[in-house]
Amino acid sequence: MRFDVLTLFPEMFHAVMDHSIIGRAKKNNIVELNFINIRDYSEDKHKRVDDYPYGGGSGMVMQPAPIYNAFASITHGLSYKPKVIYMTPQGKTFTQSFAKELVTEEHLIILCGHYEGVDERIIEEIVDIELSIGDFVLTGGEIPAMAVIDAVCRMVPGVLGQEESFKEESHYSGLLEYPQYTRPPVFLDREVPEVLLSGHHANIEKWRREQSLLRTFHRRPDLLDTVLLSETDNKILSKLK
Ligand code: SAM
Repeated sequence: MRFDVLTLFPEMFHAVMDHSIIGRAKKNNIVELNFINIRDYSEDKHKRVDDYPYGGGSGMVMQPAPIYNAFASITHGLSYKPKVIYMTPQGKTFTQSFAKELVTEEHLIILCGHYEGVDERIIEEIVDIELSIGDFVLTGGEIPAMAVIDAVCRMVPGVLGQEESFKEESHYSGLLEYPQYTRPPVFLDREVPEVLLSGHHANIEKWRREQSLLRTFHRRPDLLDTVLLSETDNKILSKLK
């Protein structure tokens, strides 16, 4: 899978995404991540990329031409148009289920805004999806884009060491994940639940499912409406109600 990110701060991506699991996936060519500096595509002699907003008001707006030129440098010669995502607090909220949809794409372009955002005409011209990572405003689209790339990349086959392990995690199946423990078996007088030390796989599975249901019930009961529950799940939940 390939991502091209249009940004004014490519070094922010290298600082985060050249490391750990995503960094390894990049090195092993499982995912291709390109960070394109929009400033390199400015035709202004001072490499200017922003200007004052028409109509007045505070802040600066990113000009459309450098973004368009950067976009065209990616799509030139392609026989298809990759989906273009603009990170914006005005977009639809990014979720695990949307990440699952995005992982089916071969090639995504992500546009990161800065300052007051981008000229509306570039959104009209090239953007297919406007995505937000939550109802708050950050200074730029770089952190939101990294969140999206990370969430999508870890579902690309081969990225996580243990294949499919993301399917157990919170939100993938619609439930929150069960609590996790590692060594030592006792820490500050707190013991690891006995069943996890038993080696009895069926009992461990049963305990984990119960814990997942309990956590979801207490922390995010809204999620339970969207999950397909078994008869056993419903019995467990009915005891809580
Ligand atoms: N003036 C814009 C508004 O009120 O909608 C906010 C601009 S914000 C300061 C600058 C850039 O940060 C945006 O263009 C966007 O790319 C990014 N950004 C900020 N908050 C975001 C969020 N919650 N989700 C996604 N992107 C966000």
